[in-house]
Amino acid sequence: MDYSTVVNVHQKPQNHQIQLFENGAGARIAQLPLNAFPDFWAYAYLVLVDDYRVLIDAGSGFHKNNQHLEEGLDAAGELLGENLSFADLTHILITHGHIDHFGGLSFLRQKTAASIGVHELDQHNLTHTEERLAIIAQRLERYLAEAGLEPESAQKLIQIYKLTRLDYRPVNIDFTYEATGMRLGPFEMLHVPGHCAGQVVIRLGDVLFSGDHILSEISPHQAPERLSLFTGLSHYLQSLESTRRWSEGIHLSLGGHYPPITNLKARIREIQEIHSQRLAEFLEILQEPHTVAEISKKYFGEMHGYNILLALEEAGAHVEHLYERGQLEIANIDEIDNNGNPAPLRYRTIDKW
Ligand SMILES: [Zn+2]
Ligand SMILES: [Zn+2]
Repeated sequence: MDYSTVVNVHQKPQNHQIQLFENGAGARIAQLPLNAFPDFWAYAYLVLVDDYRVLIDAGSGFHKNNQHLEEGLDAAGELLGENLSFADLTHILITHGHIDHFGGLSFLRQKTAASIGVHELDQHNLTHTEERLAIIAQRLERYLAEAGLEPESAQKLIQIYKLTRLDYRPVNIDFTYEATGMRLGPFEMLHVPGHCAGQVVIRLGDVLFSGDHILSEISPHQAPERLSLFTGLSHYLQSLESTRRWSEGIHLSLGGHYPPITNLKARIREIQEIHSQRLAEFLEILQEPHTVAEISKKYFGEMHGYNILLALEEAGAHVEHLYERGQLEIANIDEIDNNGNPAPLRYRTIDKW
């Protein structure tokens, strides 16, 4: 299987040029491509509407990200016939608390007094980054032991997990979305937990900024909810439904990665189909008991580096969803000693009566 369908890496925009869009009411949008990590691209969006000068997402803060933000803003200003600097920004709206979307804030905060907003559930990722990292790393350790990983391999993955966030300096944020009624002037937010706890999509008339909730070329990454509340496949699938109900009249969806989506409803259906097929295949594979590490390897193949963790999380999200719905059981319950030592759990499909 092509692992690009699992994890968000090696994604180059079709071109690295700034692209301009307009919504039906004449709001002007510039898509800024950011080389956020080596071989990893993300988008920020500059939106000019009424008196608002809004940046949606800030990229990673690493690699060429900040240079591309700076050059992108200059070039976008030129294309739009406006002389724009960071100081002119009125707001920075973060779609969700992943480093490739908020990491650039440490850089931006020095250059602009723009008001920074994020959803309540991701606020800590931006302001208490070290604390979040430490807590999730601790949960991850237990999770990886239950997934059947050798302690040595688990430690390596946890180290890699921590490394990607080391250089970020926390920033203060200015407002949260629920506290401000899920809107800012003409921008409306919908909370769509799953890919990330505080993930939102942002609607501006007939254009949707979908963050990483809905992407055009991959199904957005999923991790088990037990690592972080309000993530997990169950929330994600519900959020796809709520987005579908909210999507009437949307003609263009602009994601955090990959090309734009013109038929949002069709793309939602495709992603729903990917997950229901994957769930069915997992039930098939788990006719024989397997740990999450085994099923991840069987399904996604051999992975390296950070992708091992991403594949384990993706597999674990599907196993968790099935287990919580009573479709799997644990085949080696006698190996759990109840002394607090995590045993690798072997999941097995429960045959229909
Ligand atoms: Zn993300
Ligand atoms: Zn992302």
